[in-house]
Amino acid sequence: IFGNVQQQNMLCLRAAGEMEIGSAKNPIVDFHGIDEGLLQKMVYDALVWSSLHGLVVGDRNSQRSGQVPGVGMVHAPVALLPMPFPESHWKQACEVAPIFNELFDRVSLDGEFLQESLSRTKKVDAFTSRLLDIHSKMLELNKKEDIRLGLHRSDYMLDEKTKLLLQIEFNTISSSFPGLGRLVTDLHRTLLNDYAEDLGLDAKRIPGNTAVGQFAEALAKAWTEYNNPRAVVVVVVQNEERNMKTLAEIDRDGELLSDGTLLVDGQAVAVVYFRAGYTPNDYPSESEWRARLLMEQSSAIKCPSISYHLAGTKKIQQELAKPNVLERFLENKEDIAKLRKCFAGLWSLDDSDITRKAIENPELFVMKPQREGGGNNIYGDDVKETLLRLQKDGSEEDAAYILMQRIFPTVTPTFLMRDGICHKDHAISELGVYGTYLRNKEKVIINDQSGYLMRTKISSSNEGGVAAGFAVLDSIYLT
Ligand code: ADP
Ligand code: MG
Ligand code: MG
Repeated sequence: IFGNVQQQNMLCLRAAGEMEIGSAKNPIVDFHGIDEGLLQKMVYDALVWSSLHGLVVGDRNSQRSGQVPGVGMVHAPVALLPMPFPESHWKQACEVAPIFNELFDRVSLDGEFLQESLSRTKKVDAFTSRLLDIHSKMLELNKKEDIRLGLHRSDYMLDEKTKLLLQIEFNTISSSFPGLGRLVTDLHRTLLNDYAEDLGLDAKRIPGNTAVGQFAEALAKAWTEYNNPRAVVVVVVQNEERNMKTLAEIDRDGELLSDGTLLVDGQAVAVVYFRAGYTPNDYPSESEWRARLLMEQSSAIKCPSISYHLAGTKKIQQELAKPNVLERFLENKEDIAKLRKCFAGLWSLDDSDITRKAIENPELFVMKPQREGGGNNIYGDDVKETLLRLQKDGSEEDAAYILMQRIFPTVTPTFLMRDGICHKDHAISELGVYGTYLRNKEKVIINDQSGYLMRTKISSSNEGGVAAGFAVLDSIYLT
């Protein structure tokens, strides 16, 4: 089953071999030591490059941005130069990607495990409860997803003290930035080449990043498996985007034929790719929930299916980290050990020992609800206050959360660029490794590591998504 793991290893090795060519003479290690004049030149070049190559995002300051394509764009928030990252940990993250893909596919097939693990959460979290309702309906209908497509991203931080690469989370829905991630890699390689004399850094030490191509290829191959040349791929988006369908529009324009075919605007749909639907905000009315159910009932390939979506919740992450749970899904002991090595401490709040510890030392924990998209977690003193409140209330609301060991990555001097301004600061980073998985019944068509995304944020910020305004897109420089 994991034949591809080996293939993946070879790809990693080949990439590593490539990197040994042409080592740097006098590399700059502390970017803050870069001379001011040189810095200004590189910033200027980076901004021009970003505009020319589409390393851009919608500009919130521009009114028509997000409504009219091609209007109101600004360079994406990016790091000026790549973040140093140990090659051994990079290889480790590549190696586990196909194992995680396979794990999540198997978890998605275990309806009982998903329902059971989330049963307490269901009582107190209305959003997760609605997702579980859709999932229950599919179980009742005995709905089978023969063709399964996963476009995932497994995120990690490198814990400085233990030197362990620890998983932050595994995203199964709307894994973001495969397109811009690739461009940032290209930008950094360009700068390292153009300023090779000054920086003494070797562009080949930035691993190639094929994320967007591999995602597109997986979508295309899924479409091929569906085997209806007239069928389309629908991209489900949030409100402020055009030329695609929102959930409400699918409720309005969608229809289900008796053979399971999903029609949108009268066109058969082969693949539904969700770039929305992971946050309660995406379901302002019953219309959106109807659309989600309609799509789930259809024979269209859903990326993700409701089972894949639920398998990606924080609660399931915590359940998988419990002793003997991985064994329920995987046979290969070495694979199991490799995954387990990436697991940080994860606990349910009904563990009174750990809640006591978290109240005593809240800075060593992160408290997470069942949400996606950043900005939902609880840190520091708020952990303590929330835990004390939950204890006092004696309510079941504690089941909405999990507790996680806080990871402390190395703080590195860096330059972060946003709105055309370059900020000198100290930062920490999170490495995301994309994974693509496509399967038709017993045939695994794709199971690969598929590029990466580095996100860098100022070290004083707890969270900070790229979109939220604290983090920037980055690439890695292997050390
Ligand atoms: P989401 O699905 O909303 O992205 P995450 O679990 O990825 O939720 O948490 C969001 C952010 O919070 C991460 O990108 C990271 O910056 C920070 N974070 C999450 N878990 C931890 C942790 N255990 N230690 C340190 N920082 C964390
Ligand atoms: Mg997430
Ligand atoms: Mg995340």
